[in-house]
Amino acid sequence: MQPFQYSRPSTVDQAVLAGSRSKTAQQYADVRFIAGGTTLVDLMKLDVEHPDQVVDINALPLAQVRPAPGGGLVIGALARNSTVAHHATVQRDYPVLSQALLSGASPQLRNMATTAGNLLQRTRCVYFRDTAHACNKRQPGTGCSAIGGHNRMLAILGTSRDCIASNPSDQNVALTALEATIQVQGANGTRTIPIHEFYLQPGSTPNRENVLEPGDLVVSVTLPAPLAGSQSHYLKLRDRAAYEFALASAAIVVKLNGSRIEYARVALGGVGTIPWRSREAEHVLQGHVANAATFHRAAEAALKDARPASENGFKVELAKRCIVRALTTTTQAA
Ligand code: SF4
Repeated sequence: MQPFQYSRPSTVDQAVLAGSRSKTAQQYADVRFIAGGTTLVDLMKLDVEHPDQVVDINALPLAQVRPAPGGGLVIGALARNSTVAHHATVQRDYPVLSQALLSGASPQLRNMATTAGNLLQRTRCVYFRDTAHACNKRQPGTGCSAIGGHNRMLAILGTSRDCIASNPSDQNVALTALEATIQVQGANGTRTIPIHEFYLQPGSTPNRENVLEPGDLVVSVTLPAPLAGSQSHYLKLRDRAAYEFALASAAIVVKLNGSRIEYARVALGGVGTIPWRSREAEHVLQGHVANAATFHRAAEAALKDARPASENGFKVELAKRCIVRALTTTTQAA
């Protein structure tokens, strides 16, 4: 691990100022915020990340989970994944988020990992984490070792010729189905970003994963008030029952009106380069009878643009079955 400077600001303004040094003197300073450290420390040990400065934000007052003015819930950037998963309001009003969080990692990791850290979780592509191999995401322009290499776990939606890495998070799939917004403070003030505008597909710049600018600090995530009468559910399919990333997952929010689906939100994990919202599936579901035929049509629509690589063709059918099963479970509970 390379030597780095360490600071521990006590206010958000101080943290943003420290983080902004990467913008004003980019050629000299590579600054990273650290909270739980469950991704960054690993990557620093592997020499994938080698910041000049590490800004420890654990002393900032950003760990609260509180009601949002006008309805909804504000989750502080430093709220630990275990705190959010077990929060009474989350379990009652946003079960899809609680289920997603509890399906991820291990209890020890969930006790450390934070809401914002999980938002910014890096891919688990083995070549990204191994500096002996070419990787456009880690080092732009070097090539993609996963195309034609080990790609069983990687994405089938939103891929490009330069990168097929999957987003590994469960939390972010649930937040996408819930239409969360992300509050950011940066050198030019504060702004709110809808989660569907936060992540960037790889295209020709897979090193750029989201719309954050250097020095931007995520301060909270806001969930809108739950739709009265709606149900939500998260289903994760993986190689083993615990401590494993998704091969395919589905986060569902639906509201029924009699036998018809009045409202539907569908997001997928394990198969997309970003937490994957399927507006195609939602379009098929909305206004139609909640039955197996509709669910199968929605699943077909969600995967119609899938582009599997050499080892992950099985994910197409797996993701379809995941969607159908998750929709069946959610609507049976309604
Ligand atoms: Fe790197 Fe993306 Fe290719 Fe993996 S899939 S080797 S992260 S460029």
